[in-house]
Amino acid sequence: MSDIERTLSIIKPDAVERNLVTEIKEIFKNKGFLIIKEKKIQIEKSEAEKFYAIHEAKPFYNDLCAYLSSGPIVVMVLEKENAVLGNRELMGATNPKDAEEGTIRKKYGISIDKNSVHGSDSVENAQIEIAFFFKD
Ligand code: UDP
Ligand code: MG
Repeated sequence: MSDIERTLSIIKPDAVERNLVTEIKEIFKNKGFLIIKEKKIQIEKSEAEKFYAIHEAKPFYNDLCAYLSSGPIVVMVLEKENAVLGNRELMGATNPKDAEEGTIRKKYGISIDKNSVHGSDSVENAQIEIAFFFKD
């Protein structure tokens, strides 16, 4: 049964800074994702804190929010059958060291914090994250 989903993808500052946006978008397109919406922005730390509120209690929360707001990011809505899980698989493990061959984080990730991409982890969170960045 076809189950078309949308998920939120972010190309993080480390990848934007290294001019990897076009390359990473090609990977998504080649895997059959449609890029429905896209914008390049830089967010305030306070916005990053809201976006990552789920991680508030984690020891890496402050650095994570400082990092996401440290430079331009590209925020995209991706659409495909089972887009949420498909994007998570294509991204690879949070720590690039643990990411499988062929994944975006394996290919481009520098470290667990500079891991090049974000992807929603559930359909429910995808809806919340899409609404966070694209209010229409
Ligand atoms: N992160 C970090 N240190 C950690 C765990 C996570 O800096 O020990 C960062 C990392 O950039 C990750 C983000 O926090 O992408 C959100 O963590 P999560 O566990 O949600 O990983 P993801 O869903 O991005 O794979
Ligand atoms: Mg996550």
